[in-house]
Amino acid sequence: MTMNERTATPSPSHTLTPSDIARVALKRLAELGLPPTPENYTKFYNAIAAIKSPTDKSSEELKSAYQVLFRVSDVLDGMNEASGLLLEDLSRGGAVMDKSLDTLRSSNDPEQLQAVLGELIESTGSVRQTVSSSHRDLQELKQAMDKIQTDLALNRKTLEQDPLTGALNRQGLEHLLAREVKRVRRAAYALTVAILDLDEFKRVNDRHGHLVGDKVLMHFSSIAKAVLRESDILVRYGGEEFLVLLPETDLNGARFVIDRLRQVNAKTPYFYQNQHIEIRFSTGVAELKADENGHAMLLRADQAMYRAKGAGRDQMVFAD
Ligand code: GH3
Ligand code: MG
Ligand code: MG
Repeated sequence: MTMNERTATPSPSHTLTPSDIARVALKRLAELGLPPTPENYTKFYNAIAAIKSPTDKSSEELKSAYQVLFRVSDVLDGMNEASGLLLEDLSRGGAVMDKSLDTLRSSNDPEQLQAVLGELIESTGSVRQTVSSSHRDLQELKQAMDKIQTDLALNRKTLEQDPLTGALNRQGLEHLLAREVKRVRRAAYALTVAILDLDEFKRVNDRHGHLVGDKVLMHFSSIAKAVLRESDILVRYGGEEFLVLLPETDLNGARFVIDRLRQVNAKTPYFYQNQHIEIRFSTGVAELKADENGHAMLLRADQAMYRAKGAGRDQMVFAD
């Protein structure tokens, strides 16, 4: 089978077809050294089919993640096959050489020596050929791996992004929070988080409808992106809740950023059917302490945000 034939599976509809499932089931059985009896096969088939292939349109990312998984599995197969063949050829060539060298050591007959030399030259040539064709195979596999790596990076990006606003989602936050906390520990600079909850957003939906509510959320996130620095991280933390991670920023810096966002937001309300839809937000801010983890900081920011709500909304409260 060529690489292209291999990567052509699964089916063009990009869903997990019964034959894809059967293929994986048989492979797993072989890997575990289990006989492909009907019982074993059925057990594995059902187990794999239960990891359901996503079918609704909203999970395009998951589908492509599936495809990448299939390709990784195929490329790994290819690598196994190629390195197995290389080993086989090399050990065959090695055995021939060993035998010829033994004869060289023990024989004084010029004719026999001549013949053995011929054998040695031939097996050296064949080993060289094996190595160079394996080199080509490995290059092909490396290209396939590079492509998978690019796809994985793309998948990761879509899986970590909120489709409505383009901000990161919670999964993306998990990934970056861990990274930022590590960096803070290494470089000993400040890291602050601000949790922003839009005030009385339910009213926007009630008055103008959910679709307009969605537009207002997109509008707010564009304003936030415009105000933030490149290195700041904007996350859609919940429905009408945003989180901003501010590396190299202490509480004073965070106050400055949030005040600026408040000003720009007040000056640029969303415009719909000849009227401005004004929104305000309540903010809780926390700076990472030396002895706490990222989630503890988030929890403190969340509590501070609720205090801001309780104190009348449209304001910022610092965590203790
Ligand atoms: P509060 O000031 O206490 O935060 O009031 P609120 O109305 O913003 O808060 P509440 O938690 O009562 O309601 C949140 C609303 O946000 C309800 C929900 O309809 C709306 N919302 C959440 N996610 C979305 C979304 O993706 N699109 C739209 N249009 N509305 C959303
Ligand atoms: Mg809320
Ligand atoms: Mg709200």
